[in-house]
Amino acid sequence: QSRLAFVDLQPPDPILGVSEAFKRDTNDLKLNLGVGAYRTEELKPYVLDVVKKAEKIMIDSEENKEYLPIQGLEAFNKATADLLLGQGHSAMKENRVATLQSLSGTGSLRVAAEFIAKFLPGKTAYLSNPTWGNHKNIFADAGVEWKWYRYFEPETVGLDFEGLMEDLRAAPEESIVVLHGCAHNPTGIDPTREQWEQIADLCIEKNHLPFFDVAYQGFASGSLDDDAWAPRYFVSRGMEAIVAQSYSKNLGLYAERVGAINFVLADAEAAKRVMSQLKRIARALYSNPPVHGARIASIVVSRPELFQEWNKEMEYMSGRIKQVRQDLNGHLTRLNGDRDWSFILSQVGMFSFTGLDKEQCKVMTDKHHVYMTSDGRISLAGLPSSKAEYLAKAIDDVVA
Ligand code: PLP
Repeated sequence: QSRLAFVDLQPPDPILGVSEAFKRDTNDLKLNLGVGAYRTEELKPYVLDVVKKAEKIMIDSEENKEYLPIQGLEAFNKATADLLLGQGHSAMKENRVATLQSLSGTGSLRVAAEFIAKFLPGKTAYLSNPTWGNHKNIFADAGVEWKWYRYFEPETVGLDFEGLMEDLRAAPEESIVVLHGCAHNPTGIDPTREQWEQIADLCIEKNHLPFFDVAYQGFASGSLDDDAWAPRYFVSRGMEAIVAQSYSKNLGLYAERVGAINFVLADAEAAKRVMSQLKRIARALYSNPPVHGARIASIVVSRPELFQEWNKEMEYMSGRIKQVRQDLNGHLTRLNGDRDWSFILSQVGMFSFTGLDKEQCKVMTDKHHVYMTSDGRISLAGLPSSKAEYLAKAIDDVVA
């Protein structure tokens, strides 16, 4: 008898578990729309050309593999804050941004959650309902209480803006408001710029601390600049803000774990103190971050010719997803014109939130070999145009 016999069996992760089930399926028709990872039309993983070029530069310059400082690669930290705020932003010139390279989006969120638990004890993090499943784990494991604010309205398959505003207004002053910078996961529904302005007004009024999760910069509109509009706007309103960044999706560096946590603060003194504490947290969690992907990202962001090329590849990737949205919408409208499928076109980013319930999702998988999360989310980044009709027929079958 093991001394650990009392340990409960943890069910598979709701997102990564889908890929495990997909691998076990031997049917040729199978389609993995679970995880948010970009695939080509041929369903191949895609390594960006700019990434290959950056790696060539790195090999030619014979970079070493010494430890990075706890806060990460200096060139990366500058490049990532530039990408987020716009090059040479006044907050950076005033040294009031604390940027720490961390382990992609997840690790960056976790470092900030640890910071909140340590220095803002008793504050609640408000998460959109629904949100990326791991947000709950990250805050809960760090010891930060979290609560929902309303976000999704099933009747319109749209944003419940009134519910959102009501809930954030009812939250205690100085709460932490977790916002998706763009391309909301799982719904694909972002506030309009006018709505963002009202959310910012409310955060100022209630003295809430906005905490942006920017995991898809470039994937909503195809433009890296436009997709940073919301956090830049909040900063322009004079608010302090926390922003987590990930390069998993927009540079396709999923396995390299490249990202950062930024605290944009009122003054340089606060930024210096916060930075010292972020380093203390990172030191105990993983000591220092990996170097390879950070070098890639810093080269791509800081060399104008590569940056331009990246923008083109970003447009290409997001363009393929937009095309697949058109295809899926077209097939569904043809098969079942009584329903309104326009939400597929109005949602942005990698995902479409189909409104299918748990039972219907199960039929999608068991009968049609379409693997998706049980909240009804499909990753269009994993759908080739040639399979859009097959998917449409499956959806039409389960809603019939
Ligand atoms: N935040 C959101 C909303 C996400 O969807 C994801 C990935 O799916 C992440 C953060 C973090 O991803 P990673 O840790 O790979 O950067």
